[in-house]
Amino acid sequence: MTYDVIVVGAGIVGLAHALAASRRGARVLVLDRDARANGASIRNFGFVTVTGQARGTVWTLARRSAAIWRELAGPAGIAIEQEGLTVIARRPAAAAVLEAFAATEMGEHCRMLSAAELAARLPVAPGAACAALDSRYDLRVESRTAIPRLAAWLEQAHGVTIRRGVAAIEVVEGGVITAGRTYTAPAVIACPGDDGAALFPDAFARAGIRRCTLQMLRLAEPPTRFATPVMSDLSLIRYEGYAALPEAAALRASLAVEEPTAMTHGIHLIAVQSDDGTLIVGDSHVYADTPEPFAQTAIDDAIVAQWRVLFGAAPPVLERWTGSYAAVAGRHSLVEAPMTGVRLVVVTSGTGASTAFALAEDVVASLVEEGVLA
Ligand SMILES: Cc1cc2nc3c(=O)[nH]c(=O)nc-3n(C[C@H](O)[C@H](O)[C@H](O)COP(=O)(O)OP(=O)(O)OC[C@H]3O[C@@H](n4cnc5c(N)ncnc54)[C@H](O)[C@@H]3O)c2cc1C
Repeated sequence: MTYDVIVVGAGIVGLAHALAASRRGARVLVLDRDARANGASIRNFGFVTVTGQARGTVWTLARRSAAIWRELAGPAGIAIEQEGLTVIARRPAAAAVLEAFAATEMGEHCRMLSAAELAARLPVAPGAACAALDSRYDLRVESRTAIPRLAAWLEQAHGVTIRRGVAAIEVVEGGVITAGRTYTAPAVIACPGDDGAALFPDAFARAGIRRCTLQMLRLAEPPTRFATPVMSDLSLIRYEGYAALPEAAALRASLAVEEPTAMTHGIHLIAVQSDDGTLIVGDSHVYADTPEPFAQTAIDDAIVAQWRVLFGAAPPVLERWTGSYAAVAGRHSLVEAPMTGVRLVVVTSGTGASTAFALAEDVVASLVEEGVLA
């Protein structure tokens, strides 16, 4: 079998490139070193976040990517578990950020909720919220099943070949060298995630890619269903779409004083609900050159504390895990062309589930423009 494109990495970024290339009629081979999906793409919330992404290019990538998730969910057998987003402001300074955000072009499908509307959709503790924003842009999938289904659908419906247990040792012009053999194709797209320094040491070092480790929890089903995913005040200083607004400065100053533990560990609250009623709740952010191997109970407790302030007693913790993603401050992604027909693509901002599909369309278009793909 001959291939037009080899993709290294079967996380969401690699699979998104396989989709974009196969939609243009290319014969695609995907190589992944692991026997099954194991990276950031199945450890995440599966939250396809549009609202709050950095204004301009990233927000546009996220809107397009959310549209692609909605397009392929049915055919690929991927359930959209939740639609929309509720951002709950606990403080007046957070409410001011939400109101300012709603007034920008990014607030087009957003609106402030009344207290009665908020109470009808989420079990918020009395007095915990002073305002809330509703967005219709966002959606959520269950990543640990969605990623394998996406891969299977690419194989069945798009004729993509996925070979697992095959580690790329070197990417060269026109091919990929593995322990067993060299695979050849005019185009190679390397999507190794945060662990790509062995393949592309210079590019990783030049870009200053670090690895961000997150702690995540699954909580038992609460008594009340959550109508949408939830974020809160601490998210408003992490997500650039809010954080870059002038109103965020006052919020940042309050949080520095009032939430020292959360600020130290990069904690903010995201809570999403699965079909079985359980909740994925997180997260924290620790940056280093090597992922942090030891999850701290104190960090998990601080995440649960954020939950309690908004919703009262927390259901029991069923699962705990960590995940890591590639990170460069202020940079959404690294896209490089180290050789003719070769692209290195790394999402460096913890937004791969939200932006990879659209980013992949742009990367594949650049290979067509270069003349290595039809
Ligand atoms: C805990 C957590 C929560 C997150 N929540 C969200 C969220 O809700 N929404 C969102 O948009 N983003 C979220 N993110 C970020 C998002 O998950 C990542 O940006 C995205 O998954 C990165 O995808 P990837 O394909 O680059 O990496 P990965 O999923 O890590 O995939 C990389 C793949 O490349 C393979 N590989 C690497 N090197 C080689 C090699 N030499 N040869 C062969 N194969 C190789 C690996 O085996 C792996 O399968 C979260 C991340 C984490 C860790």
